[in-house]
Amino acid sequence: SARAGIIVTGTEVLTGRVTDRNGPWLAEQLRLLGVDVGHVVVVGDRPEDLQGALAFLAGTDVSLVITSGGLGPTADDLTAQTVGDCQGRPSAVDPALEQRIATIVDRLTARRGWRADPAALAAGVRKQARVPEGATVLEPIGTAPGLVVPPAEGRDGPAVLVLPGPPSELQGMWPSAVAAPLTQAALAGAAEVRQQTVRLWGTLEAQLAATLREHDDELAGLEITTCLRDGELEIVTRFPPSAQAAQDRLSALLAEEYADTLFSTGPTLDDLVAGGFADRGLTVATAESCTGGLLAARLTERPGSSAWVLGGVVAYANAAKEQLLDVPPTVLAEQGAVSPEVAVALADGARARFGADIGVGITGVAGPGGGTPDKPVGTVHLCVAGPDGRQLRALRLPGSRTAVRERSVTMAMHLLRA
Ligand code: ATP
Ligand code: MG
Repeated sequence: SARAGIIVTGTEVLTGRVTDRNGPWLAEQLRLLGVDVGHVVVVGDRPEDLQGALAFLAGTDVSLVITSGGLGPTADDLTAQTVGDCQGRPSAVDPALEQRIATIVDRLTARRGWRADPAALAAGVRKQARVPEGATVLEPIGTAPGLVVPPAEGRDGPAVLVLPGPPSELQGMWPSAVAAPLTQAALAGAAEVRQQTVRLWGTLEAQLAATLREHDDELAGLEITTCLRDGELEIVTRFPPSAQAAQDRLSALLAEEYADTLFSTGPTLDDLVAGGFADRGLTVATAESCTGGLLAARLTERPGSSAWVLGGVVAYANAAKEQLLDVPPTVLAEQGAVSPEVAVALADGARARFGADIGVGITGVAGPGGGTPDKPVGTVHLCVAGPDGRQLRALRLPGSRTAVRERSVTMAMHLLRA
């Protein structure tokens, strides 16, 4: 099947000031097209470095290289010209394109009421209209046109698809970039690739690896990757249609051997929680101490969550637990704030105060300070109270304050999914 390489340009990305959103997004789009990604390279704004990355990828088996960034109007945006030079296609101003960009720039400056030196604007427009000869021009979403630049006549090597850096522009241009005949030609031979995801909660990666090794011969043709994140083991299989039988065998194997930890054959934990509330028509309210509202934030991250999330209280101080959620002062005094009894009272309080079907209570010691011998850092008590009773969990979570808080929220999400 066809393979592609990605070059993300920009010193801001290279140095970590901006987190790369284009590489992962492009990799996902290519996967959907059945195109394998061989390499993702990040380079700064130096043309020598871009040249080096292009030369490197030209020496691999990729048939398409995609670049992001460096198409702006300023002199340090050199991607188009550098790609043209590497493909043996010198750049020249395309007068019709210059006209179209000038119109866009006029509209933008007028709409925003910017005052700008006309000569400077014209120079920027002219710069952005300089394209390698023989390249296909993709219409700008912002002001920068995209390009598909094939190797010069008589040369071998990958075609280069040049896209703008701002993610909204890159994503907006993607459909026309894929549809361009030069891109299609470079991707000819992309074969159908299927993908299946299975998620386990509470299985060790080494355990799974042993299972897979044991059944190695039945799983031929599957590319299996496992990723452990936040206690969840995500197993992604990629395979050609001809290996569907091996995939079915794997699915059956996992369902059999990991019946107790397998919780999804596709949807994410958050999908399952949201779907569960929506399907059952239930509502939820939260009472959080050590997680400080992270659970409420996670539940409300999803558009449409107002249909099931009624609200939440961050009850950090004991007084807040008493006054806002009716946690009995005697329980706080006798059991301490970090106790199963308080988790239950928080869940019940949230449920009653908000009139929700389900209440969640979380209390714990996130650290780094505040631990005691019988309640060390990482001690967390969780309660989910609903129409069918209560689920209670006592956790000893390892790791930093951030890790303890995030793991607590994830555990609560798992209780809410059930
Ligand atoms: P512009 O006309 O905006 O200069 P450009 O094609 O030259 O367009 P860049 O200068 O590389 O794009 O990037 C512009 C801005 O877009 C960056 O400052 C950054 O905020 C965002 N951006 C660029 N590349 C990425 C990336 N890989 N991931 C996330 N954001 C990015
Ligand atoms: Mg730029």
